[in-house]
Formats: sequence, structure tokens, C-alpha cells
Amino acid sequence: MKRAIKYLLVYKERLISGYTVKILGTVVELFIPWIMAKILDEVVPSVKTTKNYMPLALWGGLMVLLALAARFMNMFANRRAAWTSKEAVKTLRDDLFKKIMNLSGKQTDSFGIPSLVSRLTSDVYNIHGFFNVIQRIGVRAPLIITGGLIISATLDPVLTLTLVATLPFVFLIVFTISRKGVPLYTKVQTSVDEMVRVIREDISGIRVIKALSKEQFERGRFQGANDDTVKNELHAAGVMAASGPFISLSLNLGLVLVVIVGAYRINSGASLPGVIVAFLTYFTMILNAVITVNRIFINYSKASASADRVWAVMDSENDLKVTAEMKHSTNGHRIEFRNVSFTYGDPSEATDEKMVLKNISFTVEPDESLGIIGATGSGKTTILSLLMRYYDATKGEIYVDGRNVKEYELDELRRKFGAAFQNDVVFADTIEENISFGRDIPHRDIEKAAKAAQAYDFIMGKDGGFEHEATIKGSDLSGGQKQRLFISRALAGSPEILILDDSSSALDYKTDAEVRKAINADYAGSTMISVAQRISSVMKMDKIIVLDDGKMIGYGKHDELMENCEVYREIAATQLGSLA
Ligand code: ADP
Repeated sequence: MKRAIKYLLVYKERLISGYTVKILGTVVELFIPWIMAKILDEVVPSVKTTKNYMPLALWGGLMVLLALAARFMNMFANRRAAWTSKEAVKTLRDDLFKKIMNLSGKQTDSFGIPSLVSRLTSDVYNIHGFFNVIQRIGVRAPLIITGGLIISATLDPVLTLTLVATLPFVFLIVFTISRKGVPLYTKVQTSVDEMVRVIREDISGIRVIKALSKEQFERGRFQGANDDTVKNELHAAGVMAASGPFISLSLNLGLVLVVIVGAYRINSGASLPGVIVAFLTYFTMILNAVITVNRIFINYSKASASADRVWAVMDSENDLKVTAEMKHSTNGHRIEFRNVSFTYGDPSEATDEKMVLKNISFTVEPDESLGIIGATGSGKTTILSLLMRYYDATKGEIYVDGRNVKEYELDELRRKFGAAFQNDVVFADTIEENISFGRDIPHRDIEKAAKAAQAYDFIMGKDGGFEHEATIKGSDLSGGQKQRLFISRALAGSPEILILDDSSSALDYKTDAEVRKAINADYAGSTMISVAQRISSVMKMDKIIVLDDGKMIGYGKHDELMENCEVYREIAATQLGSLA
């Protein structure tokens, strides 16, 4: 929490001016009941005897003026508070976003995307709430309590004792209940994570859910997650709210006590009616301030639970460290995997069995292309993730251009690649922007990429051509059109290494072949790595890897594999046989 507050302290001057005005406003407010007592007990009786209304008008006017001044100062300070909280939280959100963007694949997996989303939204929002509250009532409430008590004591010390006697009870209630709050709000956030996860899955899978008539089932799943969130929220809020009735009760009991004791004191001549009226006002102000202190605690409970979750991300150490030059380098090979094994789980517990990739070695020369074929789950995408260093290999080393991938700054390494993945996203932006992707690529290169990816014709067929606004997630594009858009995106930067991850699965054979031919002709400088389940997509590659359950069971050219790899031959027989 301390570190969250640092974000607020950046705006020192504004905080100081805000607090100063707040304090001034509160002090002015504190004097109003005192003036009221003076009017009732001194000014009004004197008007009765002297018939001079001037003092009454003056004191009354002063009271109205002070009330207005207090209101304005409070408003000014609150606006300032809203501004500083907003700015502080904006910086915090930016920092968290940057951190999340730099997490390794492993870290993203372990937090989970939904949890990262809710940390970035609702957790940051809770911190925002707390920033607001401490500025609005953080100083005001304590000041009203102490100032109110001091003025009350000067007005009537005996009555003040009545008030002081009730305060510790209220404090005690507020304190014990709020201490229970923090763990409960952590639980609330966890169930929000779960709910966000279900929402994400449902919304992104809405078509298949409808197609399979699974709405009922999914609705049940969502309701479960939603109910859990509501239950936890209610529990936390219930515990926190339990303090409310107790405080109201003490407030009302206290008021009754003041009226009774006050009546006796007026009758015995020890006090005056105006004093008692002012006193009742102070009493209400003070106990209300105690209740708002409770609000600070509630907000603090939420915010500190949220801050812990935010800093769990902020503090996660970058596990993709860039190392100094290493001894073993290769020369000339553009890409080399040397005895690479990998597990997504904990490396210390990984047996050879559990490895998703097992002892993979291969090389791709600068002028060569590589195809990877294998069943779903055989580890094809994982090879690409390691090559682009989303994860580090558990065993073995990977080289790009003769340098270990661990020696590259991540930016430098990833700039070499242009990749089209299956689960890429179409953004709600123009087609042009979707291809250039903020990379400042001249239009002629974008057009060239679209032509090679066989996307040019369908783009020109859309309203506005390259300026056509795609809908969110590209819902107005067919699967094949999206794939061609992703291939254009990968090509547009003329990458050194082009990666196509199952990115032509929705294309017909003819278009697929045309894409490959055009890439070979127009992007001859790029080393192509193509992952596919279709043999026709890889058979023309210079080298082909056949993967089965993380193992390389074949490596060579199409003809060689037809000779010596049985699985490859079987795939060819089923896929090409039906073509022939
Ligand atoms: P392919 O691309 O051949 O379909 P993948 O490389 O995606 O295969 O997956 C290989 C194996 O690793 C699969 O068993 C898959 O379930 C597992 N896997 C993939 N991604 C993750 C991940 N982020 N966390 C845990 N396991 C994963």
C-alpha cells in the first residue's frame, strides 16, 4: 500500500493546496454551531431588551457567509482530490500495463489473463477509491473529531464527558470489524477473476456455444461464477456494514443522554439552551466523522487487498534475463535448436516424460525454409514460442543468427520475426492499420504484403478498401479472410524470419499454394517457418520436421521423409491420396 501512495505523492503541491483548503473549510465549519450558540444565548436576549436588530443581522449574516465559504472550500478541495487521484491512478495503470506486456509466457500463464485484466481494472479502481477518500475525509474527519471535542469542552465540559464516554465504543467497533475486512476483500477479487474468466471464454466462444446449443450450460457456469462473486461481496460488505447499526445506536443513545443531562443543567442554571443546541450539532458532527473514518477503513481494506494483487505483478521478476555473450556460438546458421527440451510446468519437477518438447535439434540456413508438421498438441506452436522467446527452453540452447536467443534484448530479437498465429486478433480499426499495426509501414509495402497474401482482392471489394473499418474481432470477415489479413500483417514488415502458424488452414488448396508461391517470389530474403497439419502446406519446404508427442520422428525433405518416415508417409497417403 505504501508504494501505491507514492503514486499520489508525486502531486505534492496539489495535495498540499487541496489539504490546506480542506482544513480551512473544516475549521470554518466548526465555528458555525459556536456562533449559533452565541446568537441564541446572547444576541437574541439582548435584542429583546435593546430592540436593536443590528447585532442579530450581523451575526446571522456572518453565519450564512461562513457556511457558504465552508461549502465552497470543501468543493474546491474535493475537485482537487478527484484530479490528483485520477492522475495518480493513470500513471499506476500505465506502469502495470507496461509490466504486464513484458511478462514472460510462463508468468502470464501463472497469473492467468482474466486475473491480469481484473488487476488492471477493478483492483486499480479500488486504489483510486482509497486515494479519493483519504483526500476528501482523511484529514477532515479527524479534525472534526478533535476540533469538535475542544470547542464542546469550552462550551460545556460536563456534557463533553458524556460524549467522550461513547466514543471508545464506536472506535472499537469500527476497528475490529475493519480488520476482518482485508482478507474478505481479497476473496472477493479472486471470485471476480473467476467471473471475468468465464465471461471471456463465453464471449470469445459465443459462436461455437450457440452452434452447439450450449447456452444453457454456459449460462449455468456464468451464474455460478456470478453467484460466488455476489456471495463473497455480500459477506465482505455485510461484515463491514455490521458496524453501521451499532454506530447509529450509540449515536442515538448519546443524543438522548445529552438531552437529558442538558435539560438538568439548564434547569439548574449550569448551562444555556443555545449551548445545548450547539452541543447536539457538534455531537452529530463528531459521530458522523467517526462513521466516515469507518469509510476510510473500508476503502483501505479494499485498496490494500488490491494493492497486494497489483504489486504481486509489479514485483514479479523478469524471468527472461538477457545474458552476456556466451561461449558457445554457432556461425552461419540462421536458426539452430540444440538438444532443446521444454515443459510448461515447474522445471524442477519435470521428468523426461512430462516434457512437451523432447530433445529437439535442427538447423535452418538463411536461404532455407522449414516446415513443421504433426498432430494437434504435438508441440509445433511451442517450438515457435521458444524461438521467439516467450518462454525459455528447460534444457538445451536456441540460436538465431549465430547468437543465443538469451543474448538478445527481447525487442531486438522479436523485431526479426513476422508471425501469423492462429489465435491472432483483428482490431476494430481500418484494414490498413490492422496490417501496419502501428509500425509506420509505407502504404506500398502494405499493398505488396496484401497482394502476396492473396488478400488484396477481398480488401478492395470492401467499402473503402484499405480504409474499411473492421468490426471488433473481425466478425465481418470470414475465417480465410482473417488468415490472409494475418499473413499480410506478418509480411508487411519484410521480416528476416517469417512464421506462419497454421495460418492457412482455412484457405483452399489453390489459394494456399498461391500464397506460398507469392511469398517465395516477393519475400525471398525471409526465412520461412511454416507450421501446418496439411502436408501440402509443407511439402515444398527445404526441411520438414515431423513431430509426434514432442519428439522429432522425422527430419528431412519431402522425398526423404516419404522414404524413411512411416508416419509422414501415412499422412501423405491420407491427405494427398484423396487429392489425386
Ligand atoms: P500444437 O501447436 O502442435 O498443437 P502446442 O505446442 O500448442 O501443440 O502444445 C503442445 C502441448 O503443450 C499440448 O499438450 C498443450 O496442451 C500444451 N500446452 C500448450 N500451451 C500451454 C500452456 N501455455 N500451458 C500449459 N500447457 C500448454
